[in-house]
Amino acid sequence: MPDLPLSLWIVFAAVFGLLVGSFLNVVILRTPARMQWEWRQQAREVLELEPVDEPKPPGVALESSHCPTCKHKLAAHDNIPLFGWLFLRGRCRYCGTKISAQYPAVELFTGIASALIVWHFGPTMAALAALVFTFFLIALSGIDVRTQLLPDELNYPLLWIGLGLTLIPSWNPLPVLPSSAILGALVGYLSLWSVYWLFKLLTGKEGMGHGDFKLLAALGAWMGPVAILPVVMLSSLIGAIVGGGLMLFRHHQRDVPIPFGPYIAAAGWVWFLAGDRLLAAYMSATGLR
Ligand SMILES: [Zn+2]
Repeated sequence: MPDLPLSLWIVFAAVFGLLVGSFLNVVILRTPARMQWEWRQQAREVLELEPVDEPKPPGVALESSHCPTCKHKLAAHDNIPLFGWLFLRGRCRYCGTKISAQYPAVELFTGIASALIVWHFGPTMAALAALVFTFFLIALSGIDVRTQLLPDELNYPLLWIGLGLTLIPSWNPLPVLPSSAILGALVGYLSLWSVYWLFKLLTGKEGMGHGDFKLLAALGAWMGPVAILPVVMLSSLIGAIVGGGLMLFRHHQRDVPIPFGPYIAAAGWVWFLAGDRLLAAYMSATGLR
């Protein structure tokens, strides 16, 4: 790495994060449409129905972006992360349709998170791995909020990358050994899996999706088994605060399912960056140390 001051690396990271954020918007928007298209195709195959000629939804890489309402292609300067949306005051230049605040929000959030990662880890391979971790969590959260899905297409790579990184300690953001990563994935999966079955046996309802187990398994692979309990507790706390706020301000119905994935992701990310400090603060506050 060239010898630059850390502040400059943090600025690079923020700009890089804004750009990746706009790619994550595309992933968040297009991945579920493609999954549902594949499910319909497979369902027709299983049911032995005549195949229908349904065009495959666009992929995440090749197509250029356009207004979802008037289909007008966006000019390059309207596509600048965050600022494009601000200059247009949140409306399409051609048809005036409101552009969802999701776009600048995801970009801004990814920019800030990337800056924090590089501030925390410095300009290292570990920071790069931590950025990958962050981008997966943002994409998964966005998809879960929109569609209540946590795609295997993202959960599994996140899990495999976490396991694989334990073989290259200098690239691994946290000092997790392979055996610890495997145990973390197991504990992560089984803890929510058992809650799910207990809840289902007691109430006959399904409280969460299998995607939640897989996401927590992936977090366990990155952070080891010791992180699972605090992450679950922290995600319930964040969920209670955000869920309570939604019910108060937006009259959110109690029965409307609230996706759990974003809370697991948020708690996982916080614990990933600050778990050791939070644990030390907790220990000293309770007189355990
Ligand atoms: Zn338009």
